[in-house]
Amino acid sequence: MGSVIAYRCEACGTDFRVSEGGGFFFDRLHCDRCGKAATVSHGDLGDIHLRFVKGLKTPYALARAAMDRDIRANYPGEPVGRDEYHALAEATLEPCECGGRFRYDAPSRCPGCRSTREAWSGGRVVAHYD
Ligand SMILES: [Zn+2]
Ligand SMILES: [Zn+2]
Repeated sequence: MGSVIAYRCEACGTDFRVSEGGGFFFDRLHCDRCGKAATVSHGDLGDIHLRFVKGLKTPYALARAAMDRDIRANYPGEPVGRDEYHALAEATLEPCECGGRFRYDAPSRCPGCRSTREAWSGGRVVAHYD
């Protein structure tokens, strides 16, 4: 579900890699100020993630369909939608060391100048992970 992608920033010349996408068992967020990535495991989210899976109409991922079916059938908690899930999960993370907050909808940023991908070239996939 996720990839590591190599970019060059045309604004400052930095070569760097960004990881994009979450995995089957974790989500990836970025700082809304500096773009630093943070991951949060579904296990650490506990009930927050179970409530989200409970509210899904389709499996979270095919590779874990059986587990998700079991959650939907047997988990007793109240389901939450995607927006509420994101807000609850964001609230579990400490602020970034730069003072920003980790958010699902914050973009990756160049580590050199904090530009976003409009300023980057390349985009070569160097690894996949799940
Ligand atoms: Zn930050
Ligand atoms: Zn840059």
